[in-house]
Amino acid sequence: MLEMHGITKVYRTERVETHALRALDLHVREGEFVAVTGPSGSGKTTFLSIAGLLEEFSEGEYLLDGQAVKDLSDSARSRLRNRAIGFIFQSFNLIPDLDVAGNIGMPLRYRGLPTAERKERVEEALAEVGLSSRSRHFPNELSGGQQQRVAIARALAGRPRLLLADEPTGNLDSEMARAVMDLLEAVNTRGTTLILVTHDAELSNRARRIIRIVDGIATDVSGMASAMDGG
Ligand code: ADP
Ligand code: ADP
Repeated sequence: MLEMHGITKVYRTERVETHALRALDLHVREGEFVAVTGPSGSGKTTFLSIAGLLEEFSEGEYLLDGQAVKDLSDSARSRLRNRAIGFIFQSFNLIPDLDVAGNIGMPLRYRGLPTAERKERVEEALAEVGLSSRSRHFPNELSGGQQQRVAIARALAGRPRLLLADEPTGNLDSEMARAVMDLLEAVNTRGTTLILVTHDAELSNRARRIIRIVDGIATDVSGMASAMDGG
C-alpha cells in the first residue's frame, strides 16, 4: 500500500541545511502494523508527514496505493489524503467549541458528505471507541484518554485505509496510554494499516515490524530485541 524508495528530505533555510531523512526505503503492505522509533530530532515526524502527504520530499519515489505521489496535483493529493489517511497526534487537536459529535463530523462536513451519512458515520465511530454516551460532551469535559479516543473516532469516521499516529499516547498516563494502544491495535486487526511513531519501546514492541530512524537513516530492527534476548 505504501512504497518509498530513496526518500530524502532536506530542510533549507538561509543559514542551515538539515538532512532530516536520508535515502529511506520502506514497503508497507496492506494491514500491517509498523512502529517507527528513534531519538528526538531523528526524522520520525518528517517521515510521517511525508507518508501522510502533508509534506513534500526532496528526492526519491513514493507510491501510495500504486500512485506516484509526486505526479499528483495539489488537489488530487488532498483528495487522496482525505480519502485514504487518518491522522492521530500527541496533542489531540480537538476543536474546543465543538462537542464530541461535532468534532468527529467536522472533516466529513468539509468533505461534503450529506448530513445523514455524517450522522451514521459519527455514531459508528463513537461506538467503535466506546464513547457513544459522550456525543454531547465538550473536549474540556473529557479525560485525556477520552479526548484521544475522540480524535481516533474522528480519524476512523473518514474510513481511512492507512492510520498514521504520531506519539498518540505522549500526553497520557500509562493506564490511558494502554487503552488507547489497545484501541489502535483493534483497529489494525480489523484491517486498517497502522504506522505508529513513538520513542516508547514498550509501545513499539507491540508492532510486528519496527523501523528505527537515527539521524535520518532508517533501519528495520524487527526481531532484533528477541534475537538479543535469545543470546
Ligand atoms: P523527530 O520527529 O524524530 O523528533 P523531526 O522529523 O521532527 O524529528 O525532525 C528531524 C530533523 O529535521 C530535526 O533536526 C529538525 O530540527 C529538522 N526539522 C524538522 N522540521 C523542520 C523545518 N520545518 N525546518 C527546518 N528543519 C526542520
Ligand atoms: P451540523 O449538521 O450543522 O454539522 P450538528 O451539531 O447537527 O451540526 O452535527 C455535527 C456533526 O455530528 C454532523 O456531522 C452530524 O451528522 C453529527 N451528529 C450530530 N449529533 C450527533 C449524534 N448525537 N450522534 C451522532 N452524530 C451526530
